[in-house]
Amino acid sequence: MQSLRVHSGSAVPFSVEFNPPRDAAAEARLWRAVRQFERMHPAFVSMTYGAGGSTRDRTVRVTGALAQETTLLPVAHLTAVEHSLAELRSLVGAYADSGIRNILVLRGDPPGDPLGDWTKHPQGVTYAEELVRIVRDLGDFHVGVASFPQGHHHSPDLDSDTRFLAAKLRAGAEYSITQMFFDVEHYLRLRDRVAAFDPVEGAKPIIPELMPITSLRTVARAEELCGRPLPSAVIDRLHRAAGDTSNPDQAAVREVGIEIATEIGQRLIDEGAPCLHFITLNFAKATSEVLNNLGYGVTAAPISA
Ligand SMILES: Cc1cc2nc3c(=O)[nH]c(=O)nc-3n(C[C@H](O)[C@H](O)[C@H](O)COP(=O)(O)OP(=O)(O)OC[C@H]3O[C@@H](n4cnc5c(N)ncnc54)[C@H](O)[C@@H]3O)c2cc1C
Repeated sequence: MQSLRVHSGSAVPFSVEFNPPRDAAAEARLWRAVRQFERMHPAFVSMTYGAGGSTRDRTVRVTGALAQETTLLPVAHLTAVEHSLAELRSLVGAYADSGIRNILVLRGDPPGDPLGDWTKHPQGVTYAEELVRIVRDLGDFHVGVASFPQGHHHSPDLDSDTRFLAAKLRAGAEYSITQMFFDVEHYLRLRDRVAAFDPVEGAKPIIPELMPITSLRTVARAEELCGRPLPSAVIDRLHRAAGDTSNPDQAAVREVGIEIATEIGQRLIDEGAPCLHFITLNFAKATSEVLNNLGYGVTAAPISA
């Protein structure tokens, strides 16, 4: 069985996150990105798990296709949202049937309002920690979990947040992937907190998540994924590049967005991050530019999207 190849050796691996495509055109675009990334040899590729039924079916189908029709190592996201235990078990079985052995176990957010109060399915689970145990009990799976450099938005404080993360790792998760951030200090402090709280669990890889900003529109998406506003220094740089807000200079915004992601990536490499995990929104170009800036030399073939 293939597990993630993340480590802290000299060449820091990178990985990418995809989203389930909404329709046939989006699926064709996703596959273009998949084939482009295939040539860049990421350590793994992950596929998010959505809130709606059809999106969920597409996650399972496309992640299965990644396992069977590419050379990539897929990590399937799994959430507890609106699922009974029986459904969760059957989903894990479907992943296993298509050859997937790596699962990122998440609780998920309330549908419709990511920041709203969580209500568990009457026959479901309350926290990701329980789901980690269930997936581990179901078979030989490599499990990852989410971590939050600034704390999860519903955690009472950073100490509780650290305790809950350590519990998920102790339940059998082998690594965590962070929520996206734009201030590397938050990632470093998270790493320090987990190591101080539980040196054994703190030694497990904490994989930082990055997203290159390519337009002012992606700022809103980034803030949604961060669960909080971007640092004002980042916003100021992007707005300075944009110039006239009624007619923003999109090329300059993109250039600065790539520059910011490159600076974050370089600092993470310098600080010994085990892997750089990129949110791609199913496009390869921006991530490959950041990787090239970082010296990965990944554009051996032309990248068109
Ligand atoms: C890398 C990454 C990928 C993601 N992918 C997806 C995706 O594909 N689909 C999707 O819908 N969402 C995704 N999310 C979002 C995630 O589902 C939400 O942030 C969700 O609110 C928290 O999930 P969790 O697994 O961290 O939950 P949990 O670890 O269960 O934590 C949820 C809340 O409960 C608290 N808590 C945990 N354990 C306990 C306890 N024992 N007692 C009291 N409180 C506790 C935590 O502090 C937190 O406030 C992703 C997040 C990240 C960082």
